[in-house]
Amino acid sequence: MRAYLKEVLAGLALGVLAFSIWAGHNVWPFMLLGGLVFLLFQSAGLRGGFQRKYVNIVGNTVSHVEFADIGGQDTAKKELCEALDFLRNYEASQKLGIRPLKGILLTGPPGTGKTMLAKAAATYTDSIFMSTSGSEFIEVYAGVGAQRVRDLFRKARESARHHQKKSAIIFVDEIEVLGGKRGQHTSHLEYDQTLNQLLVEMDGLSVEDDVRILLIGASNRADLLDSALLRPGRFDRIVRVGLPDREGRKHILSLHTRNKPLDPAVDLDRVARETFGFSGAHLEGVTNEAAILALRQELDTIHQHHFEEAIDKVILGERLERRPKAAEMERIAIHEAGHAVMAEILRPHSVAVVQVSPRGGTLGHVRHSPADDQYMYSRPWLEDDIAILLSGAIAEERSTGCRSSGSANDFETAVDIARRIVFLGLSSAGIVDRQSASPDTVNRAVNDILTRQEQRVRRSLRRYGAAVDEVARVLVQEERATGQVVRRILEGSGFLAPDPARPSSQPLPRRREHRVRVRPKGRRSA
Ligand code: ATP
Repeated sequence: MRAYLKEVLAGLALGVLAFSIWAGHNVWPFMLLGGLVFLLFQSAGLRGGFQRKYVNIVGNTVSHVEFADIGGQDTAKKELCEALDFLRNYEASQKLGIRPLKGILLTGPPGTGKTMLAKAAATYTDSIFMSTSGSEFIEVYAGVGAQRVRDLFRKARESARHHQKKSAIIFVDEIEVLGGKRGQHTSHLEYDQTLNQLLVEMDGLSVEDDVRILLIGASNRADLLDSALLRPGRFDRIVRVGLPDREGRKHILSLHTRNKPLDPAVDLDRVARETFGFSGAHLEGVTNEAAILALRQELDTIHQHHFEEAIDKVILGERLERRPKAAEMERIAIHEAGHAVMAEILRPHSVAVVQVSPRGGTLGHVRHSPADDQYMYSRPWLEDDIAILLSGAIAEERSTGCRSSGSANDFETAVDIARRIVFLGLSSAGIVDRQSASPDTVNRAVNDILTRQEQRVRRSLRRYGAAVDEVARVLVQEERATGQVVRRILEGSGFLAPDPARPSSQPLPRRREHRVRVRPKGRRSA
């Protein structure tokens, strides 16, 4: 009924006006008065009267997420549970004179499960859960943000009382928008007022309250937060929520496949190995895409190859319909074969799959699957990375006589890695200060690294050229070659000793009559 109130009143007013005109009354004073009242409301509306007054609260409910639903993140879960125990064992912590925590900050990359952790915290402590985002508080009009902060805390208390709970957890995502360093914004008065109000509310939280409130903030950029928020008594604990390691990824995959029928041959450990750098959200996406692929093929169970395809889809995007011309396809195949062969030579068993089908912004792609997660890199490791990146262009040059624009990204990344080597003090230039180093010194050191790797790749591809041509042939024929196929080709050419621990069971694709011309006639390999 409230929704129609304005329409009913407007209709009534028009009816009275029409009747008054018909009865011959002078309606001008009333119309003037009505206009004035309308203008007054309009200006009040601009300052928040007509606009949404309250902060948009998502999930003003009792949470159902538990810590057991969160994969990996064991350290974060443990730290969080310890910090929450004061809410669960309130009387015991009071006896010891422990001051209750007022805030916990969760920091880490997007999609790592910060929101899930906050919800699980509410379940763990039997609290009401209220969730909102930092951007909900920011308006250009001074005072609106502060008002919304007050409303949020008031609503949390009311909601807890309504649900007969003793505590409430307020979760503010993107807290850096609301709690950024003061005095740095152009409309800083509003930003500062909003943050000040949050600090006041946090300071006002007391053990005497009938509802104990805990604020959980989440941020991908904790470095942007105002130091007043980070001091003890405000956000007392900072819990880091990082990207999951291999075990964590396997755990997350198993959680998200609980409700999905898997073929018995599906190896989630292998999927976890091939998804280094993926967040929980990415992994959830992989399991979902794999299920969609199985549905499209009208299968009852999800197979390993659906997971492989889903990983590519999550990394690179949907396969495009566009088909490159034959000559272009040969060049792409040579380029990717160069990357794959070089990667296998430098890091045996590291190639998961090579493909030459256009996807997202790429025409071809090699997916690597490192044996183990790695968090520290030596100079030889970084140089191998550069060599693998340069091998695509050099394979093209060797086979077709020139490079192409397809190597632009490889070169950019190779230069980035070379600069990292220099600034990490790992190059011949010694320890280099980023601020004071002359561009000449840096460029010389970067060029030196790149030239040496270029020469190294040229020497290798001269030796393994036949294997590159063979992988390219398979790629043109099949559009895709698994790491096993690449290894079989290298083993067949006698370049790679077969590994008894990892038999290359996959047979090589049969040669067709059509022989791909990978080297122009009369041209010798470089
Ligand atoms: P953002 O920083 O972008 O807000 P976030 O860190 O808050 O992201 P969530 O919203 O908690 O991430 O996670 C998004 C989705 O990803 C979840 O709904 C869940 O499906 C999946 N997910 C993320 N991390 C995990 C995890 N550790 N275990 C299980 N699922 C996870």
